[in-house]
Amino acid sequence: MKRIIASLMLLLSMIPNWADTYDQTRYPIVLVPGVLGFQQVFGIDYFYGIADDLSSHGAQVYATSASALNSSIARGEELLTQVQTILAITGAQKVNLIGHSHGGVAARYVAAVIPSQVASVTTIGSPNAGTPVADALLGIANIPGVGSLGVSIANAFSTLLDGFAGTSYGESAVAEMESMSTAGAAAFNAQFPQGMPSTPCGQGPAYANGQRYYSWGGTSVFTNFLDPTDYLFSVTSLAFQGGASDGLTGQCSSHFGTVLRDNYPWNHGDEINQFLGLRGWFTPDPVAVYRDHVNRLKNAGL
Ligand code: CA
Repeated sequence: MKRIIASLMLLLSMIPNWADTYDQTRYPIVLVPGVLGFQQVFGIDYFYGIADDLSSHGAQVYATSASALNSSIARGEELLTQVQTILAITGAQKVNLIGHSHGGVAARYVAAVIPSQVASVTTIGSPNAGTPVADALLGIANIPGVGSLGVSIANAFSTLLDGFAGTSYGESAVAEMESMSTAGAAAFNAQFPQGMPSTPCGQGPAYANGQRYYSWGGTSVFTNFLDPTDYLFSVTSLAFQGGASDGLTGQCSSHFGTVLRDNYPWNHGDEINQFLGLRGWFTPDPVAVYRDHVNRLKNAGL
């Protein structure tokens, strides 16, 4: 019997470690949602299937929540509180922030406020230089009568979404649009320039302030007729007047730090594997792109 146990022990010791460490970064990964940014609604993750995939490859992942609609700084403050909690819970020295859409801008805010506690910032389809969609919506919002009705509906919708998501943030459609407008983004960038390109449509610094910066984005609008959000992006994309965009963010506006790729054949929803994984046929799998990026962070010692 003893010999059998000893043989079994020897056999077990010969089996390699099956635990997948591909995404086992030094610092936790913090996912930051964007516009209408919920962590989970009706059991559906904002970053659809992404946190689970990263976890299964050894990453320590935290999905944060935010106001559905609010300013960059208000969102940044909401994120700051959550990052401090994550640092306290994990005992980690730093975090890696990965933000989609307006969430990337919130991540940049936190990186600027607590630089020694942020190892990297990655923005995905983020309107870092603003979006003409917000410019157009602000134009409508400023039309007397029509505008106030639209703003009221947008505020009510975002409050409702917060209710479903179980969060209660102050919501402001106007603050959201102002922050995402071209002028609003320029004002934010003047205050928080870290990682931003110094030339229009150029790349930003790969490394500054003790932090690494990355970005990617898409340039397709209508990718899958079964995805109801594609019809919305078809309308919002009109604001770009033929310019390349993912429906909400322009190709150049997505640039921040090292531009890993700015023309994935994805729209704004595909970038987070929504809606429910629906995207164009034969297009890259967004989940795999996150997985490989977190491996990139791991290899960079982050
Ligand atoms: Ca989609």
